[in-house]
Amino acid sequence: MMADATPRRVLVIGAGIVGLALAFRLRREGAEVAVVDPEPPGKGGASFGNAGAISASSVAPLAMPGMLKQVPRMLLDPSAPLHVPAAYWLRAMPWLLRFVASARPAQVARAAAALDQLQHLATEQHIDLAREVGAPELIRMTGNLYLYRSREQMRKDDAAWDLRRAYGARVEVLDRNGIVELEPEAAPAYQVGVFLPDHAWCASPARYAHAVASAFLQGGGEIRRDRIKALVVTAGRVTGAQGDAQLHRADEVVVAAGAWSAKLVAPLGYRIPLETQRGYHVNLVDPGIAIRRPVVPADRKVFITPMETALRVAGTVEFGGLDRAPDEHRARLLYDDLAAVFPQARFTRKEPFWMGHRPCLPDSVPVIGPAQRIGGLWFAFGHGHLGLTGSAPTARMLAPAILGRPANQDLAPFAAERFA
Ligand SMILES: Cc1cc2nc3c(=O)[nH]c(=O)nc-3n(C[C@H](O)[C@H](O)[C@H](O)COP(=O)(O)OP(=O)(O)OC[C@H]3O[C@@H](n4cnc5c(N)ncnc54)[C@H](O)[C@@H]3O)c2cc1C
Repeated sequence: MMADATPRRVLVIGAGIVGLALAFRLRREGAEVAVVDPEPPGKGGASFGNAGAISASSVAPLAMPGMLKQVPRMLLDPSAPLHVPAAYWLRAMPWLLRFVASARPAQVARAAAALDQLQHLATEQHIDLAREVGAPELIRMTGNLYLYRSREQMRKDDAAWDLRRAYGARVEVLDRNGIVELEPEAAPAYQVGVFLPDHAWCASPARYAHAVASAFLQGGGEIRRDRIKALVVTAGRVTGAQGDAQLHRADEVVVAAGAWSAKLVAPLGYRIPLETQRGYHVNLVDPGIAIRRPVVPADRKVFITPMETALRVAGTVEFGGLDRAPDEHRARLLYDDLAAVFPQARFTRKEPFWMGHRPCLPDSVPVIGPAQRIGGLWFAFGHGHLGLTGSAPTARMLAPAILGRPANQDLAPFAAERFA
């Protein structure tokens, strides 16, 4: 039952997986909901082509002391997983400084607690969502396998694995025999594995987004094709959003526009350090290898996922903003990553590639909750490398708050105001 008898009109800006999962949940709970996006649902952003991992136990933020030690070496190597083009250095610097500051122990502990709060039921919540939208087969439960060349190499990630264990994750360390039992085709160079048996994955992030959108429409939701130019605020309260094509009136407005969100809220005085980390994928339709789960060579920082229609190699972190053209060279590096783990894989190096914009905040914690200075305005963005994982949980966390129900979660750790 709605707390208020009149259904609230909610406008969700952004039809990525975060906006769609939230819109679907709000509609289920009885609100009148419209989603607005210039692109078809799930096509315009990172939700289309990610690696599909539903990483409920990923509570270690990206800024960990071990990670920071690797950064200077990576920045000097143009083929490293992390790349900042020279022309973007000055733009990236303020964000990178905040990122480094986020690696302090107290900050890491705060981020881990928030990520656990958001994600610890992510697997179950995705199983539920996929079932509700009629696509249960998309969520697979065969775990994720990380690979290291040696125990020595694994040591730099020990703190992150310990953090996951501290929050209750099952983290199984495997020797070479254990790796071969799970993925017999993995190269012998990889001698140590970490198996996360409870991690799920999605066999087509694009079809998942599409299924959520279809179920939302069938349930009476509305999807409008328009690009929002500005939020409309009258006397301290949001009353809608102005698009290129029309004015969208609403009682509640949610900004869920992924990496584009900060631009929308900046004119209202919210200076949110949202930086896009561009990532790429290539899909191999006939790779000549068969794997059963996402495999992650930890030294190359890519995910190799057996999607329903192709093997996908996804990864790399490239700074460069929202407007710069994709760099084909970055995508082509993914072939070398694949060949390092599966030398027998077949590819031409000419398969079409895709680039997506991860919406990244320096502390790895998304912004979820009310805009405290503006009535009726809500935020749901900044999920970084874990936005597929965090989408269904964000919907569960935020929908009751938007509908004025008693809060079942403390949203304070996710507040935009932490960047004030
Ligand atoms: C290579 C790669 C691999 C990844 N792998 C994983 C993984 O394995 N697991 C995981 O959990 N996450 C992964 N991620 C991260 C994940 O994809 C993102 O965090 C997630 O998709 C973000 O979802 P979103 O809905 O917030 O944003 P998006 O999917 O980017 O959607 C934002 C939407 O907002 C729309 N929009 C923008 N501006 C406007 C406007 N002005 N008006 C209206 N609409 C607008 C866009 O068109 C777009 O449709 C990966 C990302 C990449 C790039």
